[in-house]
Amino acid sequence: MRRWRQEHKQTEAQRKKSNCRTYLHIYIKRGKVAKGSCIFCQATSPIEAHHEDYSMPLAVEWVCRGHRVMLDMGLIRLEDAQFRTAR
Ligand SMILES: [Zn+2]
Repeated sequence: MRRWRQEHKQTEAQRKKSNCRTYLHIYIKRGKVAKGSCIFCQATSPIEAHHEDYSMPLAVEWVCRGHRVMLDMGLIRLEDAQFRTAR
């Protein structure tokens, strides 16, 4: 694994993203952050965390897998979500 990483260097952006996810998952494990429900349809599973800003690992929007894909494809926008938590 260490060798693999040496030969497949991550870009700065990838590294930031992956650090951010790791950080969040530690918080979830410790019970500091609770998984939410999809901000578009309120589904609770399968749920994924969406980060708008990777420098703020705990600022997440919860999105189900289906809506996540649509979000990534640009078919829907976070601003259109009905159940977005006010921040
Ligand atoms: Zn959804």
